Amino acid sequence: MLKHSLYSIFKFKCPRCNQGEFFESSNPYNLKKVGDFKEKCSHCDLKYSPEPGFYYGAMYVSYGLGIALFVSIWVAITVLHPNYSLNQLFTILGVSLVVAGPYLYALSKTIWANLFFKYDDNFNKNQSL
Ligand SMILES: [Zn+2]
Repeated sequence: MLKHSLYSIFKFKCPRCNQGEFFESSNPYNLKKVGDFKEKCSHCDLKYSPEPGFYYGAMYVSYGLGIALFVSIWVAITVLHPNYSLNQLFTILGVSLVVAGPYLYALSKTIWANLFFKYDDNFNKNQSL
């Protein structure tokens, strides 16, 4: 089950069948369609948004991912370059968050979807991962 969730999250696939695309654009850096997900799965017809505002909760996931990125960079800089200045730290953190932002935003939505939609093998009969 976990491998199906991880596959869905990182490949941006449908959480139920792992077949259909989740987003309008498979590239999270397509800024015109950033975070725009399809209405339903093209393979299993799962409706991705069961109610209005369903993905507001993904903000909490996005916040957690941002904190994880922040702490990872801070620890890496502290270990690799202990004499850093605060300006250097904030510049690197700011650039990293801006660069990683669209990817983390997309990731937060697929993680949120995987919390509520479970993988179902019946929708994925002829495929093996
Ligand atoms: Zn599907």
